[in-house]
Amino acid sequence: INKIEKAIAEGRCFWSFEYFPPKTETGITNLYDRMERMYGLGPEFIDVTWNAGGSSSDVTMQICQTAQSVYGLETCMHLTCTNMPREKIDKALAECKAYGIQNILALRGDPPRGQEQWTKVETGFSYAADLVRYIREQYGDYFCIGVAAYPEGHTENPSRDEDLQHLKAKIDAGADYIVTQLFYDVGLYLNWLKEIEEFGIHVPVLPGIMPIQSYGGFKRMTTLGKTFVPQHILDALEPIKDDDKAVKEFGIKLAIEMCNRMKDAGVRGFHFYTMNLERATRLILEGLNFVAPMELVKPLPWNPSLAKNRE
Ligand code: FAD
Repeated sequence: INKIEKAIAEGRCFWSFEYFPPKTETGITNLYDRMERMYGLGPEFIDVTWNAGGSSSDVTMQICQTAQSVYGLETCMHLTCTNMPREKIDKALAECKAYGIQNILALRGDPPRGQEQWTKVETGFSYAADLVRYIREQYGDYFCIGVAAYPEGHTENPSRDEDLQHLKAKIDAGADYIVTQLFYDVGLYLNWLKEIEEFGIHVPVLPGIMPIQSYGGFKRMTTLGKTFVPQHILDALEPIKDDDKAVKEFGIKLAIEMCNRMKDAGVRGFHFYTMNLERATRLILEGLNFVAPMELVKPLPWNPSLAKNRE
């Protein structure tokens, strides 16, 4: 049983942080600094996205290896089927095992940039469920496997019932838990939790929380994913949309309210889309009383110089 499964089984509140691979060397160095600082916030695990089988997948692998084997963070690597022939999948899984990474978020992936429709590559897989099955066949119980789900339905699939069937297929293929797409309507999420339960899906679900960091980014993200935004959120944002600081503060307040409502309804694990940023996630965790305010956070174990600065 690894750390993710243990946290889920214990039924206590926990949180996890998602990062994406930066495009430049400086970006990567900055991300490592953030990850070090955010270690003090006690994430149960961190995960790193995988980019369409392109060049940045090497960066994903490198960050995951460092996080797991140098920083000792329980690390989950995203792995997609996009542009991934079988031998590349084999290589990625073997490398994970070699570095002690025991968690995979198995995805089909988005189409590569500039391509409208998703297509399978020769010797690759068509759906996330096929990837989950393959990982189980090759590695037994070595990996704890997560899969993605969409409380508002997947954008490519107009049928809610089919979407649920496809989600169930991923669990039946051996997935251990679910992480959701971002959403801003907690009621909708809680109803969907009931819906999947009635559909026979009983694995733990971690809601994906994306704090609003900027008005433009929020608009882009919700339009792209066709995310439903409740009117009260639109109304609150309208008068402050040109004030970046006010938007950020609102985003933090909103995320705290959303998490508290979910917590009251029995949700225990929370997955934060950090966008590689620290402040919003830290203030949300403080607002939820999940962590002590910054000054009281324990120093990091592997970096004495940083620990000294804190003292
Ligand atoms: P699947 O579960 O395979 O579903 C894809 C579509 O096919 C759905 O419409 C589904 O209903 C349909 N479908 C499934 N099985 C069948 C079947 N047997 N017959 C017909 N239709 C079927 N993308 C990245 O590129 N990199 C990432 O790191 C990444 N991380 C993500 C993390 C999370 C938490 C989430 C929610 C999404 C992430 N994505 C990522 C985006 C994801 O790759 C896309 O949403 C993608 O379009 C679907 O991936 P999936 O794994 O859900 O696919």
